Amino acid sequence: MSRVLIVGSGPTGAAYARLLTEALPTVEVVMVDAGPVLTDPPGMNVKNLPDPALQAAARDASQGPARAAGLAGIPGGSVAEGTVTARHGTHLIGHPAEGSGGMPAAAVATCVGGQGAHWTCATPRPAGTERIPFIDPAEWEEHVSDAERLLHTTGSAFAESPQAEAVLRLLAGEFPDVPVRRLPIAADPRPDGTLRWSGTDVVLPRPDRFHLRPRTLCTRLLVSGDRVTGAVLRDQDTGVTERFEADAVVVAADALRTPQLLWASGIRPAALGRHLTEHPLLFGVVAVRPGALPAPARARRVDPITAAVNLGYSDAEHPFHAQLMFSPVCPVPLPPDHPQAGNPAGYIGMGWGVRKWPRPSDRVIFDDEAPDDAGLPGIRIAYGLTEREEAELGRARSVATRVAALFGDFLPGMPHVMPAGSSLHYMGTFRMGPADDGTSVCDAYSRPWGMSGLVLAGNGLIPTANACNPTLTSVALAVRGARALAAHL
Ligand SMILES: Cc1cc2nc3c(=O)[nH]c(=O)nc-3n(C[C@H](O)[C@H](O)[C@H](O)COP(=O)(O)OP(=O)(O)OC[C@H]3O[C@@H](n4cnc5c(N)ncnc54)[C@H](O)[C@@H]3O)c2cc1C
Repeated sequence: MSRVLIVGSGPTGAAYARLLTEALPTVEVVMVDAGPVLTDPPGMNVKNLPDPALQAAARDASQGPARAAGLAGIPGGSVAEGTVTARHGTHLIGHPAEGSGGMPAAAVATCVGGQGAHWTCATPRPAGTERIPFIDPAEWEEHVSDAERLLHTTGSAFAESPQAEAVLRLLAGEFPDVPVRRLPIAADPRPDGTLRWSGTDVVLPRPDRFHLRPRTLCTRLLVSGDRVTGAVLRDQDTGVTERFEADAVVVAADALRTPQLLWASGIRPAALGRHLTEHPLLFGVVAVRPGALPAPARARRVDPITAAVNLGYSDAEHPFHAQLMFSPVCPVPLPPDHPQAGNPAGYIGMGWGVRKWPRPSDRVIFDDEAPDDAGLPGIRIAYGLTEREEAELGRARSVATRVAALFGDFLPGMPHVMPAGSSLHYMGTFRMGPADDGTSVCDAYSRPWGMSGLVLAGNGLIPTANACNPTLTSVALAVRGARALAAHL
């Protein structure tokens, strides 16, 4: 019988747990997460909690060590849930490296389910040059289809929504050469037209097939020569540490904390933490013109969004993923006397994710002298946009202006470019590559070059400049990695 330790309970760690237990009847899978269980079942998307007060409590509990110590976290209500910029449930991480503006909005979640307990569930497939060129296209199709099944991705969310129909029609007329479709969403449509949003609860294996240990921090991997043999785990409540031996360790601890853990363990390949990318984000809210869309029904109290549409990626015409979410209530707070407050025709929140080209100098740097709250190496971020990305943002802005004109008027000051880190999609920091040439950390099966007993999972693997929400891609890479690991075990 073999034993596998998984560090991190987000969607990618959960995919490993599920696929390893399915492939290997006798494998023992232990999954640790530094954060607490928020929901029953564990890992559920907190948007499914029936009461806004319960949702707020779950989001507070995901805000890491500072919040657990009683310090203020990110407040609720600053941005409404369901928009691309929702942040309650996450906590800021890292400081700017010297000489850099860093990523002031970089944030992670510390809870069972990871960011997958809070995500918006947009799961479009990567297209064109977004795709990883050294993975065989036929194999990729299989992985991505399996990932869609694991996440319950549907292309028919809000199928009955008259606003969705109208948005689709107007966009298709304006942009005949760009893919226009319902936003693929990881969720199960309910008979009343609402969604049960996917968290890791839909991905994890049955509870009797693996062992979940919440509030358990992995502080170091055990390394013997070029082999990882287990990890040091710390119970966050008792402070007790233990050495945990395993045949394989899967580290799925997000794009900032996975390289942190490797660094802390003395695993420091040249590309570790480098080539950091995200999606520079242009965001705006349009107050819909009366008559432009069918009038909305009365807003639901918990989950007001009734349409989600994707203006998709094409290398030539529209190298962006744009997300349009219709809601009868404004997704950003407006003072009651604001001329666009309480707009009877509703609002569309819209965001354009833009490509960031990987550069070694955009990077996470680890500071052993200034550890974080958990005692792990401090995180510093060096990051900046180039003229190429600024030009792409300008191009996205002109598309956004055309889109807004179809429906109404942007709120004043919009669209605006969000602060670096706002996308919550950090990539590249342990990127995969076709060869061990110093520009990548992992091979095409997520195994760090030259090491055995260790597999990495998460958005940090993604090596391309892409605009696509990354989770579907990362779960597809987990499918690929889990199959290879199961075969090896
Ligand atoms: C509000 C919001 C909206 C989003 N919307 C979308 C979207 O629409 N589409 C999309 O594709 N993506 C979206 N994302 C991003 C998406 O949630 C992430 O891409 C996804 O969760 C990454 O999965 P993961 O398994 O790699 O890591 P995560 O989900 O980040 O999980 C990592 C886990 O590792 C744990 N951990 C870290 N370090 C340690 C350690 N040393 N020891 C033990 N445990 C550790 C953490 O506590 C965390 O639970 C959104 C995120 C947020 C917050």
